[in-house]
Amino acid sequence: KELKQYFNVKRDKLFGEKQVVKAVDNISFELYEGETLSIVGESGCGKSTTGRSILRLDEPTSGSIKLFGEDLLSKSTKQLNVMRKDIQIIFQDPFASLNPRRTIRQMLSEAMTIQKVVPKDLQEGRMVELMQLVGLRPEYLDRYPHEFSGGQRQRIGIARALSVNPKIIICDESVSALDVSIQAQILNLLKKLQRELGLTLLFISHDLSVVRHISDRVIVMYLGKIVEIASKDNLFNTPKHPYTKALFSAIPTFEKVNRKERILLKGDVPSPLSPPSGCRFHTRCPFATEQCKKEEPAMQNVQNNQEVTCHHWEKLI
Ligand code: SF4
Ligand code: MG
Repeated sequence: KELKQYFNVKRDKLFGEKQVVKAVDNISFELYEGETLSIVGESGCGKSTTGRSILRLDEPTSGSIKLFGEDLLSKSTKQLNVMRKDIQIIFQDPFASLNPRRTIRQMLSEAMTIQKVVPKDLQEGRMVELMQLVGLRPEYLDRYPHEFSGGQRQRIGIARALSVNPKIIICDESVSALDVSIQAQILNLLKKLQRELGLTLLFISHDLSVVRHISDRVIVMYLGKIVEIASKDNLFNTPKHPYTKALFSAIPTFEKVNRKERILLKGDVPSPLSPPSGCRFHTRCPFATEQCKKEEPAMQNVQNNQEVTCHHWEKLI
């Protein structure tokens, strides 16, 4: 019953003419209605690509993405535009790509008109409502992007996303550029809007503190693969994958991670052009065996709400 919204993401990415980068390689996850699911990992792990593929901003070369049971990849452009209003994306700086000569009013009105969600004569009222929803004064509607602070811009980005009545909002590093105190305000706003409007959030971030603040469940990615999926509590209290443990070890404030489980990583993430064989983490994993170099581990169920992709997780507890 919970599984009304269902994604399957599989994608390859073409890079140049010959080299194929699988920025995201054969990954599959579900997004439940009304939840906040985060995708966390270092830069280049494929978390943004995953979000962008769902919207087909990055075009997958193979696979399927199902939304409400319908395959997004088989849709025509016209059908896709209709579905796009169900899924909105908020970037790190929503104004980076916008015309600085357009007011907030023009911007919101345009979004509503293109998606035909609000008739012209009702748009004024809706715009006032949107501004109030995101905690901005309606008088600001006639201002230009440069007149706002980073936090306010993000509120406007949220208002713009909400203007088409989406069911899902993808937040791609949406608070990463903000000061910590402003981050908390925006995260709390997203939570409030989620409760009031029944939104589903897919939250992409490299920041574990932010992820801990906002998530119900978390996906950890490494080099284009999912290494662990868990409820937030399971992930933060009992991380199972060596890479997840290593991510936590890098942050002293995650005191709950047992000291003897601390894992310090050597070296950098290998190039996605030629990912390591077997388990992609084997070149950096202190527990790697011969099997890890040869066989790709399958996703295994550890307990309710926790799955891990590692041959040896049971021995590593
Ligand atoms: Fe480490 Fe092997 Fe597990 Fe990969 S499968 S995380 S290399 S122990
Ligand atoms: Mg990114």
